[in-house]
Amino acid sequence: MAEESVASEDYVFRYPLQLEPDSRRGSQDPLLEMLRAQLENILNLVVPTSGEKELKIDGFKLLRDRETIYKIFARQPDEEHAGGEGSQISNRAKDGFQDVKNAALYEPRIEFIKAQQESLLSVIALEKEGKVVGVDGFRLKNLKDWVVPSACDPIEVFGYAGARCDTDCVFCYNKGNPPSLALGVLKRSATEEWEEMLTRLKYFSPTGGFGLFPSLGDTYEVLTHPKIMAVLRQLRRKTPEVFKITTNGRLLTPAKIAELGKLQPLYLYLSLNSASPSRRRKLMRDRKPEVAINALPLLRERAIPYTMVIVPWPLDSIPEMLEDLASTVAYADGHDSHVIQINLPGYSKYFSSEKLYDLEEVWSAIVAKVRELREKIATPIVVMPSMYEENLYEERKNVPKVMGLVKNSPATAAGLMKGDVIVAVNGLTVASRPQARHLLALLQEADNASAQVTVKRKGRSLEFTLNLQNFSYPYSPNVDRHLGIVLMGTGLRLNYLEKLRDIINSYKAKHVLFLSSTLVKPNFEQALVESPLFASGETQIDIEVPRNNFFGGNVFMGDLLVVQDFIDSIKEYLERKGKRPDLVVIPSSPFNLGQWKRDLTGRVYLDIEREVGIPVELLDCATIYD
Ligand code: SF4
Repeated sequence: MAEESVASEDYVFRYPLQLEPDSRRGSQDPLLEMLRAQLENILNLVVPTSGEKELKIDGFKLLRDRETIYKIFARQPDEEHAGGEGSQISNRAKDGFQDVKNAALYEPRIEFIKAQQESLLSVIALEKEGKVVGVDGFRLKNLKDWVVPSACDPIEVFGYAGARCDTDCVFCYNKGNPPSLALGVLKRSATEEWEEMLTRLKYFSPTGGFGLFPSLGDTYEVLTHPKIMAVLRQLRRKTPEVFKITTNGRLLTPAKIAELGKLQPLYLYLSLNSASPSRRRKLMRDRKPEVAINALPLLRERAIPYTMVIVPWPLDSIPEMLEDLASTVAYADGHDSHVIQINLPGYSKYFSSEKLYDLEEVWSAIVAKVRELREKIATPIVVMPSMYEENLYEERKNVPKVMGLVKNSPATAAGLMKGDVIVAVNGLTVASRPQARHLLALLQEADNASAQVTVKRKGRSLEFTLNLQNFSYPYSPNVDRHLGIVLMGTGLRLNYLEKLRDIINSYKAKHVLFLSSTLVKPNFEQALVESPLFASGETQIDIEVPRNNFFGGNVFMGDLLVVQDFIDSIKEYLERKGKRPDLVVIPSSPFNLGQWKRDLTGRVYLDIEREVGIPVELLDCATIYD
């Protein structure tokens, strides 16, 4: 049979329109129909509530007409359309409402549904069997609708256990949250948290790679939750992933550590702050400081690796702070802490309207002390934000210089040393710190038996073979990502410049305003000057650093900038320069919280463009946590 000839025209994919009135629609009045359809859509997603009761809504009437009742559904609402006949809100989460602002950071459609209902209720009243019903809230109906792709980190479940804390640190960041900040801490009962965690656990699917949409969770101490161990045990049955728990150590008794030890793999961020009982008591108002202090040898005994965290706060005087820092670091080193993390202290204007200390003086004194201590102890000490140290001491940025080595790691055993600069990994030349980290991480994941690392040491090139099976505590392949090598922070990925060039080309922009931060700017400037992508000089790129007006105090981190800070900065630049750029580019990291490009106040980045009238593009880049 002859083959059919190839069609010269495409098949027409055609679909019918339904022009007859839908039998489900109760009215020919388009405005009425708009209200009805909106209500139906909303009631497909949420169940209205009043007090502790779920409401079964079947009709509505316009507020201007007290008589006529309109049906919402063509058929009687059934289980699909309501929570049941006047049923009580499930025991799960009946104690209170979730915070819409907090939820909206990750799931702004909830805020949208709320706004839609509020708007509808300004023109209609809801009815049940002919009687008006009062509404004061709504609940999500079918949680399967709210499942999202997820990395399934266990903290997505147990992170909702921390609505309280059993210490009262003088520097507690929670005291400095702006009132309008979406991460305002929810005052919730332990029961409500427990119910939420059980529900999140139900939808948590590490094999499928999804879970319930997240919110910011609770930011205090999760180990204080009365049922935290039960949550962790249930979670362990669902995932083999490491539980990374941040704790102040107040409850790390021998019995608790033994119990935690059964849940391995586990990793603790232990905020010891001071190994001196009297100073820890003063700093954290911990009435039993010896519990946390004595926990370090017990963690070692149970082979639970941990980072020991210190916030050096200039309590009493800077010399006293530094002296205590040195003895606390020595204590952690003596008990095989995996890493020692020094969080440079800061505060917002909501924490204190007065200047509490000179930031430069305190930070530079801490970093100088840390550099001195690194020469004396074996445990790696990282200072956060690490770029502060880099800017202060390293003329060249982004260099893959080894800052520390995890004890008993493959890298330590092979003979790498602090100060070595990595030049190649398994024969591949390395040009920047992020590249070195990336290659080391690939090797760690590859499950190879060995790895080659070439370094420059005092002008000489040396090659080391790392035996990846050669390790013991505190090194752990569950948490170490770079074979035990600790570099000075993440650094700046050079592919950001390619993305920047693509954005600029797509706008054919000749004059670009790039908004950076105090810490990243020197690194970014170096990358820009050295990049062949911008060698022609055709594009003028002005780099500005917005001020953190929203947080105020001594906060100056780029990732804590909000939409209004960017708007203020651009307006101030326009006034100063007297000319307008063709394009504004902003790193995306302040908008990385959810998928919806919102800042910490819940405002979307597009507001910047709307307000300044210049195209604004986000440069896609990862949040720098170190
Ligand atoms: S342990 Fe953390 S949450 Fe608790 S008071 Fe201290 S800083 Fe605040």
